[in-house]
Amino acid sequence: MLTIICDKPGTLSAIERDRPVRGENEVLLRLRRIGICGTDLHIFTGDQPFLSYPRVMGHELAATVEEAPAGSRLKPGDLVSVIPYISCGNCNACRKGKTNCCRRIGVLGVHRDGGMAEYLTVPEAFVLKAEGLSVDQAAMVEFLAIGAHAVARAGTGTGDRVLIAGAGPIGLAVAIFAQIEGAEVTLIDGRADRLAFARAHLGIESTVPLGEGDVDALSALTDGDFFDTVFDATGNPRAIERGFGFVGHGGNYVLVSIVAGEISFSDPEFHKRETTLLGSRNATIADFERVMTALRAGKVPDALITHRMRLSEVPQAFAGLTDPAAGVIKALVEVA
Ligand SMILES: [Zn+2]
Ligand SMILES: [Zn+2]
Repeated sequence: MLTIICDKPGTLSAIERDRPVRGENEVLLRLRRIGICGTDLHIFTGDQPFLSYPRVMGHELAATVEEAPAGSRLKPGDLVSVIPYISCGNCNACRKGKTNCCRRIGVLGVHRDGGMAEYLTVPEAFVLKAEGLSVDQAAMVEFLAIGAHAVARAGTGTGDRVLIAGAGPIGLAVAIFAQIEGAEVTLIDGRADRLAFARAHLGIESTVPLGEGDVDALSALTDGDFFDTVFDATGNPRAIERGFGFVGHGGNYVLVSIVAGEISFSDPEFHKRETTLLGSRNATIADFERVMTALRAGKVPDALITHRMRLSEVPQAFAGLTDPAAGVIKALVEVA
């Protein structure tokens, strides 16, 4: 089967591999769409820590069932989405239902080979029927679930004033689910094209360009109160540190993006606000299900998909996605 492999940073090759054989309690999947995200770009550029090469990327997966275990709830031909965070089920986090931060987590396409290929085997528990979704939508469930999980962490509700720093795919996913919960969303980003996209396709009227005067603008939007919840989706340590100052008194700060290294903040400023600081990692099955409900209800615009390529074209086309001028929000790989 055709497989795209990242041999070492900067090099992708199309190779032929044997089709995987399904183990007990595993489902053999035929891939249909593979979403590409920031994680993949970092694997390609070599900026992803704790990763060994060669690696087959691909964790945003829409597939159809080829073979399922006897007695399975899945049958051949079913359209499915994959939960790529393979959790152990036994550690303390898993026992508490927090499978998203399992101690022994193995993420498809990161810690183990993913789905940038024609076939993949996955334990049955990590395969969700994508009933009522298009094939494209089924490939968008995972990155949207990251946003849905962050919003659930914050407990965002009706009328909350929410600031999202970073208007890339994850920031936009947070914005979609914060709006579904009834929040008033403001976006801040240094890229005018991404703010324009959010205004045009997500109906977010409140956008603030990063830079001179931005603090005054954020203050004016909230009568000097600042925000009930600030979400960071920037991947930038400086931006994360700055975001502490945008949290209102009694507010939350949710760190969705992760950076290598340390961040610091003023303890008096943190305490003065009685800030609640939350990390948000991956997503749970409940988040995936909430995303599927939102997709079926037409609450996620297809305009998020800005680029497409065939599986065989990935080695030539991939590097072009890293160029900000390409205006990529979500690129999908189509498997014939
Ligand atoms: Zn992703
Ligand atoms: Zn676990």
